[in-house]
Amino acid sequence: GRRRGAPAPETASVCPYCGVGCQLGFRAREGRIEEVVGRDGPANRGRLCVKGRFGFDYVVHPERLTRPLVRLEGAAKDPADCLDPARARAKFREADWEEALDRAAGGFAAIRSARGPSALAGFGSAKGSNEEAYLFQKLVRTGFGTNNVDHCTRLCHASSVAALLEGIGSGAVTAPFTAAAEADVILVIGARPTENHPVAATFLKDAAARGAGLIVMDPRGTGLDRFAEEVVRFAPGQDVALLNAMLHVVIAEGLHDRDFVARRLAGFEALAEHVRAYAPEAVEARCGVPAAQIRRVARRYARAERALILWGMGVSQSVHGTDNARALIALALVCGQVGRPGTGLHPLRGQNNVQGASDVGLIPMALPDYQRTDDDAARARLEALWGAPVPAAPGLTVVEITEAAGRGAIEGLYVMGENPAMSDPDLGHARAALARLRHLVVQDLFLTETAALADVVLPASAWPEKTGTVTNTNRQVQLGRAALAPPGEARQDLDIIVAMARRLGLGWRYGGPREVFAEMAQAMPSLANITWERLEREGSVTYPCHGPDMPGEGIIFHDAFHTADGRARLVPAGLSDPAELPDADFPFVLTTGRELEHWHTGAMTRRARVLDALRPAPVAALSPQAMRRLGLAPGARVRIATRRGAVECAAREDPALPEGMVFLSFAYREAPANMLTDPRLDPFGRIPGFKFSAARVGPA
Ligand code: SF4
Repeated sequence: GRRRGAPAPETASVCPYCGVGCQLGFRAREGRIEEVVGRDGPANRGRLCVKGRFGFDYVVHPERLTRPLVRLEGAAKDPADCLDPARARAKFREADWEEALDRAAGGFAAIRSARGPSALAGFGSAKGSNEEAYLFQKLVRTGFGTNNVDHCTRLCHASSVAALLEGIGSGAVTAPFTAAAEADVILVIGARPTENHPVAATFLKDAAARGAGLIVMDPRGTGLDRFAEEVVRFAPGQDVALLNAMLHVVIAEGLHDRDFVARRLAGFEALAEHVRAYAPEAVEARCGVPAAQIRRVARRYARAERALILWGMGVSQSVHGTDNARALIALALVCGQVGRPGTGLHPLRGQNNVQGASDVGLIPMALPDYQRTDDDAARARLEALWGAPVPAAPGLTVVEITEAAGRGAIEGLYVMGENPAMSDPDLGHARAALARLRHLVVQDLFLTETAALADVVLPASAWPEKTGTVTNTNRQVQLGRAALAPPGEARQDLDIIVAMARRLGLGWRYGGPREVFAEMAQAMPSLANITWERLEREGSVTYPCHGPDMPGEGIIFHDAFHTADGRARLVPAGLSDPAELPDADFPFVLTTGRELEHWHTGAMTRRARVLDALRPAPVAALSPQAMRRLGLAPGARVRIATRRGAVECAAREDPALPEGMVFLSFAYREAPANMLTDPRLDPFGRIPGFKFSAARVGPA
């Protein structure tokens, strides 16, 4: 809390939680953050949500790791340790850095020699800086010798990125969410910005108050509904049917932008033929939306002078997430709603630096700036810069790596700031797979559920202790500055990665994040005209940026898309059902996600006093009708089971849920939602369907 008297000195930084990227100031004194204030950043204009305002005392939480840990000789790895931090801790002893790093790197080197590079993998972090993510992927590619490197983008917007790259040649947003200020119509689908991107939500509400037509499409009611001109509650998993029906209306009624289609798109005839079968009357029962509403919404969007689409993980976290995104992209393109003020496509990115971590190549199929690993020329350029060979074969993704660990094909895993023992689907199997690894190194702030299964745990730095750049959902590269020193012997993540690299035979020398950024700028043309000095001066620069004194481009694709011929490709989206449908044994749809107060697997926010006081325990949300039918009073214990496992927690009545749906947040160790989720993947984005599992619900 803030002390009486003058405010503590303020350090300018950026919020480390969601992809909005609010600029903030840490007011810190004597090793503690006393207060956090919003600064006038381009994405927040002084605003902060509850996490940005009150979510930082995890930094000084008593459970913070301050010395390296190594597993005791003979201490077995037991998945049950994930649930019991005291039991997990008893299986480690403290070590000095020399021993811990020797063990960590030595274990990887031994596996590399015995089994080859493909038996190694790394999970980097979207919560660290661009510089850390860049060095991490470089270490895995050149030190381990494999492209088996990924991060949580695989679990959030991998399908959106796959569809955007395929359609318009760029995986990032075409417009910032602040373009809402100039939009006539704003369509929000499968996103809950009031909870997950709260400050972005304020810009959407401002637009609605100004008179923009807000269309909110989601199976669940959302916090934006009361600001909306139109709320479309559709059946879960039926995004493609609904969006294809909207495309049908647009094309059948001649509402598409003929000039834009002729000049800038490829594949219109095939798309028109494909959606001919999707008359709203033919799919209304499937979508659960009256045909008249589908027609009304399609006309409203298509006739708008300027319309913006924002989407979230309701669209992407699906076994047909890429098709969902293809249909959305096609809708925007045929209506010519891209490349002008107030128009665009905006997948709301989840983690604070998931855009940046993806840009710098923390993904298994792409090098920095999304150059394919099998592009010989791209690899040759990087090899010249890095002075080391880069493997060509694309690597495995997050869920594939865990699966490979389960069958012994991956033996060594380096995890920096990720928590797959909470965030992977089908946790029973995922935890068993992590426990089977011959060598697991976890670099984190706390003994997380994943660290409980590690061989070596390296105490790392929290965001308020770091200086580095991050890239938000709007493509704004922003500079965060350290307000505190890491506690005890905890070290900067950047230094730990470099120390690991040196032990693996790479002669790395970096004087700090500024030098790493300079190398990144050489590897990534997208960073042209963005320098460290400029970021120190301006705090934020958007890419692409066409001159050292020019602002970056918020709205892109005015004239041409990033494809070989400059035209966007329309890709028809096929209709398919979720991986498993409700049946007599499992009649509910389980959907998982986040809550306003907690962030992802809860490693930070469950240790932030105010946030955990607001949301201290897991709660399953059910419709009032379902609660009555199941004989549950609010607060009663409920058991939720799927074909993969079961959890128990309190039940809450939530009128926003459709009758046959149950919602669980995945932040709680006490009732891990991902014990229940289905690991099957979207074939293109390789993302699991977290939003749809068949479940059974009843009194505990
Ligand atoms: Fe942080 Fe996102 Fe909240 Fe802004 S909206 S304060 S970036 S969590």
